[in-house]
Amino acid sequence: MNPEVIVVGAGPVGMTAAALLDAAGLAVRVLERGPAGPRQAQGKATTIHPRTLELLDAIRMDTGHTVTDELLALGRPTGRVHFAVLPELLDYRELPTPYPFVLMLGQHRTEAVLAGHLSAHGVDVRYTHEVTAVEQHADGVRVHAGARVHEARYVLGADGARSVVRGCAGIEYPGTLPSLCGFVADVRLADPPPEVLHHWTHESGWISVTPLPDGLHRVFGARPGDTGLSPEQVRARQSEGLTEHGLREILHSIAGTDFGLREVVWKSTANDGTRRAERYRSGRVFLAGDAAHIHLPAGGQGLNAGIQDAANLAWKLAAELGGRAPAAITEGEHDYHSERARQSAQLARNTLAQSGLMTTFTPAGSALRELFTDLITGPGGTGETLAFWLAGLDVRYPGTATTGERVPDLRVDGESVFRLLRPDRFLIADATPAGAFAGLGGQHLDVYRVPSSNTFAGLLIRPDGHIARAVPEADVSAMVVAVRDWLVV
Ligand SMILES: Cc1cc2nc3c(=O)[nH]c(=O)nc-3n(C[C@H](O)[C@H](O)[C@H](O)COP(=O)(O)OP(=O)(O)OC[C@H]3O[C@@H](n4cnc5c(N)ncnc54)[C@H](O)[C@@H]3O)c2cc1C
Repeated sequence: MNPEVIVVGAGPVGMTAAALLDAAGLAVRVLERGPAGPRQAQGKATTIHPRTLELLDAIRMDTGHTVTDELLALGRPTGRVHFAVLPELLDYRELPTPYPFVLMLGQHRTEAVLAGHLSAHGVDVRYTHEVTAVEQHADGVRVHAGARVHEARYVLGADGARSVVRGCAGIEYPGTLPSLCGFVADVRLADPPPEVLHHWTHESGWISVTPLPDGLHRVFGARPGDTGLSPEQVRARQSEGLTEHGLREILHSIAGTDFGLREVVWKSTANDGTRRAERYRSGRVFLAGDAAHIHLPAGGQGLNAGIQDAANLAWKLAAELGGRAPAAITEGEHDYHSERARQSAQLARNTLAQSGLMTTFTPAGSALRELFTDLITGPGGTGETLAFWLAGLDVRYPGTATTGERVPDLRVDGESVFRLLRPDRFLIADATPAGAFAGLGGQHLDVYRVPSSNTFAGLLIRPDGHIARAVPEADVSAMVVAVRDWLVV
């Protein structure tokens, strides 16, 4: 039987999308060019931000746990987070979320949890299936993988920065060229710094040393000679790669020590090339994750933004396939492209700004970093604003007043509302004393009582945890209108 949706790429974003589409009751097939099993033993993303943990709470596993529960059991929470590697850290500990910390966890472990869930749920994941072409027609898509042609109604390209799906859909990927080639490695240290270290000098460069689970440390940084490069120079350095000897030398030259470097478990380079797909959708083809946006891995955001893409898309695609999607979410102000492209524009701006702060090795750069440090630690709220931003808690989609904002962490019988969200269901949070909205529940709509609020009587909440409408009074007809605006029944 043909699936309804083909997801190309079993990276973290493709697997999250597949899990959410499956949870919404759709038949999904994932095509991955690599073999089954871990893609790598270590490396790439190590930070999972609060909003991502909230979103992954919507995926319930066979164990009864959510994906978030499984990740929490594996990772190392840290309540203080850097911005642009400035020594003064942002404080996540008071953020209004069930997860007021960054979870430090290797990307391979996050991927293993997602892959385990897809396998346990019987989602059709086909490894060693490299997609070479995608065509679309009036009723569906044909996806070529080797000699096989797979048919579906829609295809999602979650196939990374060099996306074949994006190319086949004729979607451009414009942006700014890389001029930085920094180093990054996961290492074992005999003599690690006692806590997170961000060490700077504008003569020799900067380095960050952060503890990871499993007794490892992530070290990354850049030296003055790593910046101001041409794209060709960046490419040449990346293909040369980083050697263990080279890393030891770099650590000595910046920090005066290699922290007792015992083993390099994974090493790579990072550049600040920044690109965004000009469209996230073309007909029956969607893009998510690195296929839709790349940037300097500053603040650890690529995987997090990609999972937000998946969460934004899954319920809309499920509604479209189920014939219950209003025009506003298929091709209007709330459609996938409109909402997520705005976010990736902000992400690109923010990571480029961090790149500016991190790679200006001059006295002027030092002055800029000092000014930013003062702003972060000062009373003006800059630190809090940046923390909200990095944590993903300030993601807001178009709308008036509170509409489009992430729902606050409401409690339903002591449990967070984020654990009750499902990709095929809206949720009414009923804060009226008499449960005025109780009768509105239905096939794609749950109603839960929540503690009374000064700001609303009822909230209509989208499956991805954003506010669709706030109804100020116990006015059932106003809520019915809100539901009809978002759900064609
Ligand atoms: C050094 C470094 C550090 C980083 N640190 C962080 C961090 O701390 N936090 C964070 O959020 N992000 C971080 N990132 C970014 C993060 O790793 C990426 O954003 C994330 O991997 C994107 O996931 P994805 O699923 O979109 O793409 P990918 O991880 O690239 O996965 C794409 C998948 O598609 C498959 N594929 C590709 N082409 C085809 C094809 N034609 N047919 C079938 N399958 C195909 C690939 O084999 C792969 O499995 C970091 C990146 C780097 C390089």
